[in-house]
Amino acid sequence: MSEHGERSAPGKGLVNGLAVTLKTMTRRSTTQQYPDVQPELPPRSRGVIALLEENCTVCMLCARECPDWCIYIDSHKEEVVVPGAARARQRNVLDRFDIDFSLCMYCGICIEVCPFDALHWSPEFEYSELDVLDLLHDKDRLGAWMPTVPPPPAHDVLGEPSKEEATAARKAAGPGAPTAARTARARPETPEPGK
Ligand code: SF4
Ligand code: SF4
Repeated sequence: MSEHGERSAPGKGLVNGLAVTLKTMTRRSTTQQYPDVQPELPPRSRGVIALLEENCTVCMLCARECPDWCIYIDSHKEEVVVPGAARARQRNVLDRFDIDFSLCMYCGICIEVCPFDALHWSPEFEYSELDVLDLLHDKDRLGAWMPTVPPPPAHDVLGEPSKEEATAARKAAGPGAPTAARTARARPETPEPGK
C-alpha cells in the first residue's frame, strides 16, 4: 500500500530491495580495515594539540580565549641576571600546561590566538582512554606530539614576504637600504583624475 492509500503491484518492494542489493554488491567497498590499515588523513587534520614548550611565554591568551576553559596553566617567575644590565630581568617559567581533551571541542582558537606559535595541530588521533579522566594531558604528553606536526606549507612565491624575511633582507642589504615605509614616503602622489 502506498502512502496515498493506492495498492502497489505485488512483489514491487522485493524487486526494489534486490535492485539496491545488486547495485551495492557491484560497488567498491569504502570500508577501511582500521586498526590493521591506517586511514589516510589529510596532513592538516585536527587530531590533537601539540605544545612547543620553549615557545610558550605563559601569556595566558590561549587559556583565556578557550571557550571550554579546558586549558590549565601554572607558572612562576624567575630572575635572569643579564651581564651589564642595571637590574635583573624576570621571566615566566611554565610549571603546568594541561589540556582536558574530554572537554576540548577542537575549535582551534587556542592555536589561532597563540602569538608565539607554541601550539600546533597534529594529525595524531590514537589517544583514546578507557577512563575519561585520563584525557587530561600534561605538557610532556603535549610536547611528545610535536614531532608528528607536519611542516608548514611552503610560502607562496608570488605572495608578500613575511615580516621576518623582509627584516632579514633589509639587514643583509645594509643600513641605507630602503624600508617599506621609506619607499612609500618617497613615492610621488598619483594626481587625481581631472587635476
Ligand atoms: S581547541 Fe578550542 S576547545 Fe580545545 S583547547 Fe583549544 S580553544 Fe579550547
Ligand atoms: S597563547 Fe601560546 S604563549 Fe601564550 S600561554 Fe598559550 S601556548 Fe603559551
